[in-house]
Parts: sequence; C-alpha cells; structure tokens
Amino acid sequence: MLAGLICKGCGQPIMGSYVTALNAIWHPEHFVCAGCKQPIRDNHLNVDAHGQPYHAACFAQYAAPRCALCGKPLLGEFLIDQWGAKYCREHQKQYPMCAYCGRLVTPQQRAQDAHHENVRCPVCRRSAIETIQEAQPIFQQVKQWVGEQGLRYGNVRITLELCDYARLTHYLRSRFEPHALGVTVSSMYSEDGQLVSSTVDTIAVLHGLPLTLFRGVVAHELGHAWLTVYGIKNLSPWAEEGFCELLAFRYYGMLAGDEARYHVGRIARNPDPIYGEGFRRVQVIAERVGFAQLLETLRTTKHLPG
Ligand SMILES: [Zn+2]
Ligand SMILES: [Zn+2]
Ligand SMILES: [Zn+2]
Ligand SMILES: [Zn+2]
Ligand SMILES: [Zn+2]
Repeated sequence: MLAGLICKGCGQPIMGSYVTALNAIWHPEHFVCAGCKQPIRDNHLNVDAHGQPYHAACFAQYAAPRCALCGKPLLGEFLIDQWGAKYCREHQKQYPMCAYCGRLVTPQQRAQDAHHENVRCPVCRRSAIETIQEAQPIFQQVKQWVGEQGLRYGNVRITLELCDYARLTHYLRSRFEPHALGVTVSSMYSEDGQLVSSTVDTIAVLHGLPLTLFRGVVAHELGHAWLTVYGIKNLSPWAEEGFCELLAFRYYGMLAGDEARYHVGRIARNPDPIYGEGFRRVQVIAERVGFAQLLETLRTTKHLPG
C-alpha cells in the first residue's frame, strides 16, 4: 500500500494498484477516456488541446480536428491555410485554389458555381458583386476615399463597367496580365507623334469578385486612371503597377477584418517582379518622401521622386 496517494479521478485514497498518467495518480478504473468514458488500460493514449486523455481510436472519433473539406479526422500531419482552416494534406494536390482568396475548392463547390469563369470558393461567392447596381455605390465610396488620399480627377467623369472574362481579356489586348481582375481603358490623342491628351474611357472590373477584393481592384484601377488623367505615361511597368498596388494596399489597410488583412499580406509578399517588387519599391519611396509628396512629384515631373 502507498500511503497518502489520492486518485485524481475520484479524490479518494488509493489502496491497491494504480496508474500514473498526466502527472497524476489514478485508480485504474478512474483513468478514463474523455470520449467513451471507459478506462484507458494501455499506453496508447492521446491527449487533446485541453489535456483530456482519449483512447487512440476515440481521439480520432471525438477529439481530432476535422478536415474542413471532407470532414475526416486529422491525425498526424495536416495543413492549415491562411484563413486558419485545417485540411488533409492530399487535398492540396487534388483541389484547385479559389482565384480570389486561395481557399481550396472541392469539385462539388465548383459545380455549384459553374457559371463563374474563375475558380471561386463559397465564401467569396457569398459577397460577390454581380450587378452594376450593387457595384456603383461601392465604386463611388472607393473613389471618394481615393480623393481623400489626394487623387483628384477634376472634371473627368470616370465610369465603371462590370464585365465578363472575355471582355476583360479584350480590353487588356496585348497586355500580358494573366491575373488581371480589372483594367482602365483609356484613349490617347496624339499629333505628329506627340501625345496631346489622354482620357479615361472606363474602368472595367470582372463581375463576381468578392466585395473586399472588388474594392481593392477599384482602388488599384483608380490609380491608373489618375496617372492617365495627368498624362503620366512613361513610368516603367513596375513603377506604375507598384503605385497602383500601393493605393490598393493603403485601402485594404484602412479596412477592418480578415479579408482585408489577407490582401494586405498578399500584396506585401507578392513575388511578382512587377506587381510585388514594384509595390515594395514604391512603398519605400512613399515612406521616405510621404504619400502627398509622391503624388505632387508625379503630377509635376511625370516621374517618381528620385
Ligand atoms: Zn479513483
Ligand atoms: Zn475511449
Ligand atoms: Zn480532408
Ligand atoms: Zn475565395
Ligand atoms: Zn494595374
């Protein structure tokens, strides 16, 4: 007999055999599985995040995290995406990612959204901007915010068009922008080879974007529109896209919520040499001279501050 030993399960003294587990001592019949409530008699136990013990089989059934896509218990290694969803490793090779947020999309989810051109997850579909009536007031809000940042358009009326993928591709023409979700359509007028004026015809955005991304794409395109209105046409691609990405980045940074945070991170870490690298280079300049001065220098010299 071991004098003074108390079972952690029932709080009574232990007179006979006992088990030690989880830094405590128990009557063998009181060291029980949190799942099936039966004693755990072997060494194969699993402990959940709250320190509760389970038979190995019960852990899979009652306590293991479940795959967000197929519902199977996740044992051993599994994946966690940027949204905190957990899923089986193999799905990463099986399923495509949502074009807008990176979540994996199952064939069933895809089938429910077959009319949309890009792979889109149910979360993005829920907030999708599908009609110009929905889009218009949001466009005006973003334009007002952009104006508060110092990007004014004078008397130029900038219109919005929601378009399908074919029309977007048509607008993009020869520009190779495989991930473009919007485009600023402008006309140039030149005389004797000299550019005399440029006007913005429309900002076209792919229909069906989730709300937050739609706003960021509009902010980005309003950057292009501003450059066009002021005749700033000779920036390198990295400088122009970097400037427009900086605008979208600042807009997302002002919004609250997980989605905005996701896009802030996506822009900041974008490996693309034009969009990602361009953003980082323009951001360094903006931090050095201030955003207002960056605009002023662009307006007066048609170039980025040196
Ligand atoms: Zn006991
Ligand atoms: Zn059990
Ligand atoms: Zn799974
Ligand atoms: Zn999505
Ligand atoms: Zn752009």
